[in-house]
Amino acid sequence: MRIGVLGTGTVGHAVATRLVELGHDVVMGSRDATNPKAIAWADSTGAHAAAGDFAAAATHGELVVNATAGTGSLAALAAAGDALAGKVLLDIANALDFSGGMPPSLAVANTDSLGEQIQRAHPRARVVKTLNTVTADVMVHPGLVAAEHSVFVAGDDAEAKATAAHLLEQFGWPRGSILDLGGIQAARGMEMYLPLWLSLRSALGTAVFNVRVVRA
Ligand code: NAP
Repeated sequence: MRIGVLGTGTVGHAVATRLVELGHDVVMGSRDATNPKAIAWADSTGAHAAAGDFAAAATHGELVVNATAGTGSLAALAAAGDALAGKVLLDIANALDFSGGMPPSLAVANTDSLGEQIQRAHPRARVVKTLNTVTADVMVHPGLVAAEHSVFVAGDDAEAKATAAHLLEQFGWPRGSILDLGGIQAARGMEMYLPLWLSLRSALGTAVFNVRVVRA
């Protein structure tokens, strides 16, 4: 599949690299088509990897991944513009605001979420919030956590969520570990989990962990 990965950070690299390993054709997008990190990634990753600006990556993708800083995601996706129409948009971002130092606060919470803001800004995109509750390596190599653990999806388009779940299975998430939380409004809870995630990381001394949802 042709996939546009918007983001040149840890998540963009991890997801884009794994997608190419799995046989997908990926363009990594950035604000600047000459972003050295994206070009170095493309050069070192092979024939199915290329770099471009956000619009080029979104245009390339049959599916698009938002792996941009949450406080910049709306701007990044605005740059992608019409290229998102009709496409599944996997939103991995967290709207963490570091302007007040550590720990970060959430730039949007309670009655709204970044996932919903993105869906409202791009009504023709088929937004699925997922993977934002685990660290980048675990997103694409869930077996790093040597136990059963859970990943969430939320979005208003059932077919888009099925496509997202299929991609998660390709990454290695067992079908039974993928929990559908319903419409995109459920992105609120997924994003508001982040303060707990940060505390867990401190308590455990590692980012390589996850939670498992158990039902009686
Ligand atoms: P990041 O540093 O949060 O984001 C880097 C990307 O954001 C770059 O592509 C950058 O564009 C873009 N960006 C930054 N400010 C922007 C702005 N004002 N306008 C447009 N684009 C802007 O990288 P990350 O750590 O890989 O995280 C990516 C997203 O995943 C974040 O939302 C993060 O909260 C979420 N997340 C991260 C992890 C993790 O393990 N790191 C885990 C779960 C979720 P340029 O390429 O042009 O510099």
